[in-house]
Amino acid sequence: MTDVPIVKILGTAQDGGVPHVGCFCETCVSFHDNAGQLYPTSISIAAGEDLHLIDVSRELDRQSRSFGFNPRDITDVWITHGHLGHVDGLGLFGREVMGLRGVRLHTSSAMMKMIRSSPRLRYLLDSGVFIGSIFQSNVEVKMEGGLSVLPVPVPHRDELSDTHAFLIRGPRRSLFHLPDHDRWELTLGKHKQDSIIDWLKSLNVDIALVDGTFWNEEELPSQAEIPHPTIQESLQRLGPRGVNDPDIRFIHINHSNPILIDEKLRKDLSGWSLAEQGETFIL
Ligand SMILES: [Zn+2]
Ligand SMILES: [Zn+2]
Ligand SMILES: [Zn+2]
Repeated sequence: MTDVPIVKILGTAQDGGVPHVGCFCETCVSFHDNAGQLYPTSISIAAGEDLHLIDVSRELDRQSRSFGFNPRDITDVWITHGHLGHVDGLGLFGREVMGLRGVRLHTSSAMMKMIRSSPRLRYLLDSGVFIGSIFQSNVEVKMEGGLSVLPVPVPHRDELSDTHAFLIRGPRRSLFHLPDHDRWELTLGKHKQDSIIDWLKSLNVDIALVDGTFWNEEELPSQAEIPHPTIQESLQRLGPRGVNDPDIRFIHINHSNPILIDEKLRKDLSGWSLAEQGETFIL
């Protein structure tokens, strides 16, 4: 039970995590050698008697042991979209593992369609492990403990489902969770904004966890097929952090992103920063 909502960062990596299966790059080898691991992007929110999870990765066991919560206490799961690292922990709630019942599963209707079209995931709903709850884009959902969640639609590869960012508001502050989108140009255009800061200010955002998958356009041979705004582009659009600007931290970092091993890049983010696993924010 908490008096104010508390957000905890449970993972900061892209869907594959770091180290990344099948990869022997300098970063993956160095993380393995030092027993380091970055889990796929996910956050928890404790609010009153409820414990919310935004996106659910296969690493839920390690995330919960490392960051001090009991996954059996989870009351609500919110899904941004259908790509692997955001949903591949859903099965852990079922009979083969935790065997929970009555956990509220908040998704868009397109995402729920995807879940219902997969026999294995559909069974989790049919057997009462999850109770489906469909949210609408741009319609705030009020929860217990002074918490509200606003699903904000963003353009992202939609071969499986649509994609939403979540604006999480508590009595004091708000946190925006945007792990995946394709291009700032498209996202800002969709919301009729010219600048990232203006968009975040229009939403009254205090802390923003934003897509930092790649550092630049030259990390992967097939990068054009998996668009994400690069950190370089984000920094260019943001400029140096001003006193009244929101606190923007990068998440969803791919193993190919040199920021993971280059201290100099990390220190030179013009006042913005890289999110860290285990960090908490009081809302
Ligand atoms: Zn992702
Ligand atoms: Zn690697
Ligand atoms: Zn994605």
